[in-house]
Amino acid sequence: MMGRLPFIAGNWKMNKTVGEAIDLVRELKTAISGVKGVEVAVAPPFTALYAVRKELEGSSILLAAQHLYWEEKGAFTGEVSPLMLKEVGCHYVIIGHSERRQFFGETDETVNRRMKAALSQGLKIIFCIGETLKEREEGKTFSVIERQVEGGLNGLGHQAVRSVTLAYEPVWAIGTGRTATPDQAEAVHQFIRKKLEKLYSLEISEEIRIQYGGSVTPENVKGLMSQSDIDGALVGGASLKAESFSKIVRFKEL
Ligand code: PEP
Repeated sequence: MMGRLPFIAGNWKMNKTVGEAIDLVRELKTAISGVKGVEVAVAPPFTALYAVRKELEGSSILLAAQHLYWEEKGAFTGEVSPLMLKEVGCHYVIIGHSERRQFFGETDETVNRRMKAALSQGLKIIFCIGETLKEREEGKTFSVIERQVEGGLNGLGHQAVRSVTLAYEPVWAIGTGRTATPDQAEAVHQFIRKKLEKLYSLEISEEIRIQYGGSVTPENVKGLMSQSDIDGALVGGASLKAESFSKIVRFKEL
């Protein structure tokens, strides 16, 4: 199997003023300087993207946005376009986060529209999927994941899908302190990889990275990253402090 570069991303959600964001990223640059063999991205709120981009100049930390709209421009009050994100220096955009699905009406169809719009501007994507506790308890985990993968990637060709990193985030593990065990996560990651093989090819399924997300901390990251199909982490709470996020980035040294 070809080696996939581990990818650790911090989703700051609706946290950090511009001043706080600059402070955090300054600390982070120092805390992870010299780390090799891992890709790192941070996703500040829209208001801090420009300031964080400036602060990241000359650093290998990549900038990500948390959301976007699919139209190019126009009368869509409150929305932000793919071009705007590209211009401000975003490399990645998070699409389909469970909080968007839960609180803001995101569906597989709107996820798919956002994916295509992001790709049209050359943005790379962190595509989040995951089942709720109820769905897991009802034995629907794999059917939900299958539906989300098929719906989100609908119409994306072999080349386009290479710009996608998946993030498996069981909703019951997000912000709850309740992490999936490495085995529980690995089982779903394997399922996702098989699904990618069926939809695309073995080569593509082995190339695409699948992050785990849901209460990742410096204490549990190593166990998760030791699984062969877990290629990184999407980190919420623990990405808000340089100390914890940098330890996660340095998981190989733990
Ligand atoms: C997330 O928001 O993607 C997430 C995984 O959050 P937390 O790490 O806080 O569970």
